[in-house]
Amino acid sequence: SERETKTLQRRLDEARRNAEMDHLTGLPNRRSFEATLTQQYDEARQAKDTLCVAFCDIDKFKLINDTHGHEAGDRVLKLVAKCLAEISDERCHVARHGGEEFVVLFRGKSLDEAFARLDDTRDALASRKLVNRATDTPFGRVSFSAGLADVMAHRDPRSALKAADNALYMAKEQGRNRIVKAVMEVESKAA
Ligand code: GH3
Ligand code: MG
Ligand code: MG
Repeated sequence: SERETKTLQRRLDEARRNAEMDHLTGLPNRRSFEATLTQQYDEARQAKDTLCVAFCDIDKFKLINDTHGHEAGDRVLKLVAKCLAEISDERCHVARHGGEEFVVLFRGKSLDEAFARLDDTRDALASRKLVNRATDTPFGRVSFSAGLADVMAHRDPRSALKAADNALYMAKEQGRNRIVKAVMEVESKAA
């Protein structure tokens, strides 16, 4: 009947939404992000628009889990997700890539503009004095490191992600709580 069809349609929509969403943080998941990246890349190329991607990773997160427990770790993860989600809009996509890693896709921003935007979030989070409400003990500084790449300066989105990941590794090496810009692979076509 018509009603059954509608119920099925609603369930299908819900299943689709769930498949695209990370349950802990409510952010889009990796699978959803990959679709967004492909779509944004195609659109940005057509429009000769800029596109930047950042790989973010919470610093010393294992220590937070080890010290405060996994549940407290989950709350920290949700908070970082919330801070990052605050910069998201129709031209800035934030997703949980997995574990304690997040990705941010900036459309229409130069590498420096994207850097400034994300660095504000990094700085604001690292300046907070977070306390574990369950035990009243301080979390200490919670921060993230990130690697940022100009997608159009790379062969394809996959290489740009790889470059952002390499830059993230450098940010960790240089002491964490910082963002490192990836080196360009090719001259930017969007410039
Ligand atoms: P680094 O600064 O080098 O990134 O150090 P790290 O401790 O953050 O890195 P590592 O990769 O060793 O540890 C990541 C930890 O994140 C280990 C894993 O148990 C934890 N983790 C991943 N996903 C979740 C989650 O959903 N909840 C909680 N509580 N912990 C998670
Ligand atoms: Mg990690
Ligand atoms: Mg980490």
